Formats: sequence, C-alpha cells, structure tokens
Amino acid sequence: MIHGGAGAMARGRLSEADEQAGRAGLAAALAAGAAVLEAQGSALDAVEAAVRVLEDDPAFNAGRGSVFTWDGRIECDAAIMDGRTREAGAVAGVSATRNPVGLARAVMTESAHVLLSAAGADAFSLEHGREQADQEWFAIPERRRQLDEIKARPDAPFDSGMKYGTVGAVAVDAAGHVAAATSTGGLTAKRWGRIGDSPLIGAGTYADDRAAAISCTGSGEHFIRLAFAHEFSARLRLTDDSPETVATAMIDELGALGGKGGFIAVLPDGRAVHVFNTPGMYRGVVAHDRDAEVAIFGDE
Ligand code: ASP
Repeated sequence: MIHGGAGAMARGRLSEADEQAGRAGLAAALAAGAAVLEAQGSALDAVEAAVRVLEDDPAFNAGRGSVFTWDGRIECDAAIMDGRTREAGAVAGVSATRNPVGLARAVMTESAHVLLSAAGADAFSLEHGREQADQEWFAIPERRRQLDEIKARPDAPFDSGMKYGTVGAVAVDAAGHVAAATSTGGLTAKRWGRIGDSPLIGAGTYADDRAAAISCTGSGEHFIRLAFAHEFSARLRLTDDSPETVATAMIDELGALGGKGGFIAVLPDGRAVHVFNTPGMYRGVVAHDRDAEVAIFGDE
C-alpha cells in the first residue's frame, strides 16, 4: 500500500491534469513495489522501490517536487524501517541527495546510527556514494508559487492551504515480514531547521513484525506529539482490537488535538488499512490476489 499525501484535494479543487498526474504516479509506484514482491523480494526492498518512484515524480512533495523552505531551499526528510529486525534509518533536512529514502536506508545499513541531519547527512551521502542532485533538480515552479503565496499572507494559519503530498509505502512480503518508508519535503515555508514526523521513527514511520508497518502523512507536529506510528503498532500488539478499530481511534485522537492527515498500514497476515480525516489522500493498494487500485478523493 502506498500514499502520496493527505490534504485539501477534493473533487473540483484539483485540476484534471493534476489528478491524472497523481493517479499515474501512484500506479507507477505500485507497479515498482509489486514487481519486487512478485520476484520474491523483501518488503524492505519493495517499500524503497515504491518510494523512489514517488520521489522522482514532481507531482509529489518528496525528492524532486519537494516544497520550499522559507529561505527558498529544498530540505528533505525520509525514513525506512524493517519490521523483521526493527532496524531503522532516517535523514532530516538533506539537500543534495536525489533519493532521500535510499540515503535513509544507507544510514540503517552502513552506519551505527538511526537518524542523521542536515550538513552531516549530506556529507554522509557524499562519502557513501549516493547519487547527488543540485537544488535546481528538485525545484518545481508550482512549489515556488506556493511559497510566494504563503509569504504574501504571513498571518494566515501555518497550514491553511494543507498542500501536503508526502509519500510513503508499507508492504508485507511472502515470508510475512513488514516494512515501512516515508519521504517528504516537509511543509511549505518551514523555518529554523523544522523537522516533521516523517523521519522520526515512531512518529510518522514504524514497522514491527509483531504488529504492523505504518506510514503517516499530515500535520507532522501532531503526529510527533502522539508518537503516532508507534502507538498504532503498540495498540495492535497489546490489545485485541482490530486494525480498523485502532485506526479509527487513532485518527480521532489526532483530530481531537487539531491534527489533520492520514496513514496506511499493513499487518504481517496481509490485512491492510488506511484512514484520513482530510478531504482526500493520494493512495494505492495491490496484492498477489488483488489488482492495483489508486484513489485520491474521500468518496472513492
Ligand atoms: N507530515 C509531513 C510533515 O509534517 C507533511 C506531509 O505529510 O505532507 O513534514
């Protein structure tokens, strides 16, 4: 299962071209992830493959097409976690790596650490031979326009436009192992080195073979305050509640704090669940016994 961000997109608010681009991007990412699983690959490889496709697609707020910071820069966050071992890797505020999710995986497998940030993470990326990209490669005119719009109304609520678009993937492989990955440019006009929930293990991303793999999207500060992804996993592990019951309870708690967004999750037995409290969420699902489906709006 994949997502391309929760947000304000409702029927009539999204142009025909944007809708088509979104659906095509989701379908391509699902195909990339499914190809890995079909070839008996691991859930970890599948979520990385799906997220890489979405990072390269300028229709989504991750990698190429990331939103701009207040200072007009691109600073990406990403995380990946293996439910089999509960190993995890993450990067925050990276500015020169083409695929941040791949860098997060390198942090997991090639360093003794879980989370690297900013200049240090950029240096790690270079030292470990990750493909580099310059700021022009990430920058898309529409994102610049969104920044200008926010800066023109500095008194407006920070996320009034709700132009999210973070991407994520969760998967379960033939061996019953789960994995999760999330990647984002964060929030438009973020300042002061702001880091969201996506790269924080347990907030926006978590995977545990004893429970579930989960990737979140939305107003990151709320997801951080609830330790959202870990709590979803822990409730599944420690209670008899169904994934649907836990998902609804968690999104209601988020909403009660004023949070907006959604998430996708899969269990080791193959059950999948998604939920969101925004008008829409880019999403898609595929399984060995289920054709690929993509959706955007709340009524789909
Ligand atoms: N959760 C992300 C963040 O706060 C934004 C998003 O989901 O689009 O950085």
